[in-house]
Amino acid sequence: MTLVVLRTHHGVCMQSFVRKGYNKIFIENFSNIMKFFNSNPLYKCIKLTNSCDHLCEYCPNKLYNNKCKYEKFVQYLDNSYQAIFNFDRKRQYSFQEINYIVKNNLNINIFETICSNCKWFYICKKSLKKIM
Ligand code: SF4
Repeated sequence: MTLVVLRTHHGVCMQSFVRKGYNKIFIENFSNIMKFFNSNPLYKCIKLTNSCDHLCEYCPNKLYNNKCKYEKFVQYLDNSYQAIFNFDRKRQYSFQEINYIVKNNLNINIFETICSNCKWFYICKKSLKKIM
């Protein structure tokens, strides 16, 4: 993979991924991307976006027009986290850099404020509490 496109809020989802998701193929794709990142932590291959990304590719909620079924909500998540992480969408980051930025700017209060209406909230909260 030379370029992995990632929605801004997926930088948070990645921290708490425990092989749970919308269906088998979505989980498989998510796991493969995580394996790639973990094997290449310094490779600057990640570009941040606020539209559908490589994780969305196999998601049953991705629509034909390249939008998410819950576009309004996921835009809210992306914009809220972008205001905190301040990613430069013109450059590429390594997985290590993304993790550093996310872990240094995220805490449980911010996560609870932004993500409380997400269906995965309780699963992520349990995972995030272990690393924060
Ligand atoms: S729910 Fe929407 S934003 Fe989340 S992975 Fe699926 S298509 Fe992408």
